[in-house]
Amino acid sequence: LLSKRLQAVYQMVDKDTRVADIGSDHAYLPVELMEEKICQFAIAGEVAPGPMSRSKEDVDKFGLSKQIDVRLGDGLAVIKPEDQIDTVVIAGMGGILIQNILTRATADQLSNVKTLILQPNIGEPLVRHWLVENNFEIVDEDIIEEEHHVYEVIKANKVAQAKPLNSAQILMGPVLMTKKTPTFIAKWQHKLNSYHKAVENMSHAKKIDQAKIDLMNQDIKYIEEIL
Ligand code: SAM
Repeated sequence: LLSKRLQAVYQMVDKDTRVADIGSDHAYLPVELMEEKICQFAIAGEVAPGPMSRSKEDVDKFGLSKQIDVRLGDGLAVIKPEDQIDTVVIAGMGGILIQNILTRATADQLSNVKTLILQPNIGEPLVRHWLVENNFEIVDEDIIEEEHHVYEVIKANKVAQAKPLNSAQILMGPVLMTKKTPTFIAKWQHKLNSYHKAVENMSHAKKIDQAKIDLMNQDIKYIEEIL
């Protein structure tokens, strides 16, 4: 039922958790989590009324309306303290939007949350940066390729004081850098080639933006050190 991308997100969810899937759209993830008895209770949160009513129908169809509450709302506003949500999933959006949703969450909404599972389609460094700044420590990461797009999944646990990450870890992922899977190597080899080309083009431009070239050369250095 799940795509390879959502399957990678699913794998990160711990057993017996209470999950809020924010931006759930079709609610595929909570349905699968419940069918497989991974979690105890789930909220499928969705800001758009169309997808929200469709997932309500799906949840009813599977006979899961007692265990999955489909709620209309913006970001983590669908979570109430009495829901005792301990795991929040935000998948299939850009890193800027994920960071924005997390930044707007209130202390109340995050009070019981121990684990965040985030799958940005783009802009992963922004998400890692938010996690460190807000004392969530990255405990697992995955990288998968589906239909010519590479997706990263980041799992982080709330800690008293998150260890800082260096620039290479923010860029490439602290766990992914140690796992170094073939998909990871292929992604960064590809990026390395395009960064080299971009630096070459920028150095021959009429107006040279040295600061931009320096930044890109810095990234090239990090990537080359890791690969
Ligand atoms: N999470 C699913 C997945 O990974 O397949 C669906 C991803 S879909 C591309 C993104 C969904 O997020 C859309 O249904 C959109 O309406 C919803 N969304 C966007 N901003 C949101 C917000 N602030 N709060 C809740 N949902 C939001």
